[in-house]
Amino acid sequence: MNNQSTTPPSTGIPALVISGFLGAGKTTLVQHLLKDAQRQGLRLAVVSNEFGALGIDQALLGTQGSNSYVELEGGCVCCKLSDELVNTLQQLWEDVRPDRILVETSGVALPFDTLINFWREPVSDWVNESIAVVVVNAEQVAEGRDLEGTFEQQVSSADLLILNKIDLISADTIEEVEKQLAIMAPGTPIIGATNASVAAEVFFTPDPQLKAKRHPKAHEPHTHEMFESEEINIPSGVDPDTIIQQVQSHQALRAKGFVHTSQGLRLLQGVGSRIDLIEPAVIPPDELLGRIVVIRRSKKPDTTH
Ligand SMILES: [Zn+2]
Repeated sequence: MNNQSTTPPSTGIPALVISGFLGAGKTTLVQHLLKDAQRQGLRLAVVSNEFGALGIDQALLGTQGSNSYVELEGGCVCCKLSDELVNTLQQLWEDVRPDRILVETSGVALPFDTLINFWREPVSDWVNESIAVVVVNAEQVAEGRDLEGTFEQQVSSADLLILNKIDLISADTIEEVEKQLAIMAPGTPIIGATNASVAAEVFFTPDPQLKAKRHPKAHEPHTHEMFESEEINIPSGVDPDTIIQQVQSHQALRAKGFVHTSQGLRLLQGVGSRIDLIEPAVIPPDELLGRIVVIRRSKKPDTTH
């Protein structure tokens, strides 16, 4: 197929891969993200490759959402079913036109190998930012169970680690577990969670434009690690390396926005210390230029030096 498209370019939608061992809390995280999307009136399409009968209870999605949920069975989406995954994602795009899309993998899948399917045509035409998240069972790591092989491969290729079930271990143990994960995945942000409850903006960073319209934090019912968003302004004409260093200095979990660099217009996207500047598919309105939204942990009052 040639890639001469007759459809206008899209800014693309964000995509998420959620991996992690069976029982780590992947499905619970998906449920939180579905509820968040419903609250905001956004369509979240889900492809689940979780084996067995653990898939999301369809009733949770409501009748409206039923065509935006697909279960893929008979193999693993990171290898055997990768072509089927691409076809399914494309079908979802054509049928549902979701605002966000996520893939929940089985416990044995490798997140990066799953993620690269978002970069294949024709999916790459409509997916903008894609990140791989691995949900880790804190208790499992604390007990030293199954840490080699698949677990280490999953953790080392994640963009973000959700350290779930931290309520089941002591604060000292949490620190030790975080150190262990940092050895496997240097520089990857680790977000502590209870019941897989993590604010959705960590995964789906709002555009400066959307931020002005919505107040997603206004009615977050859960108690979880708190995040704050901040806007940083970057003047036109700065060179890319300087921009990357400047954004990195904010130590944000996520960063997103448009900048006019010395080399032209770029879309800046960041996960942890990884900051990418890519040529955007569309020209953003002028008022969005130079405005980077960063999401970071709220400063805790008990932090001392
Ligand atoms: Zn696989």
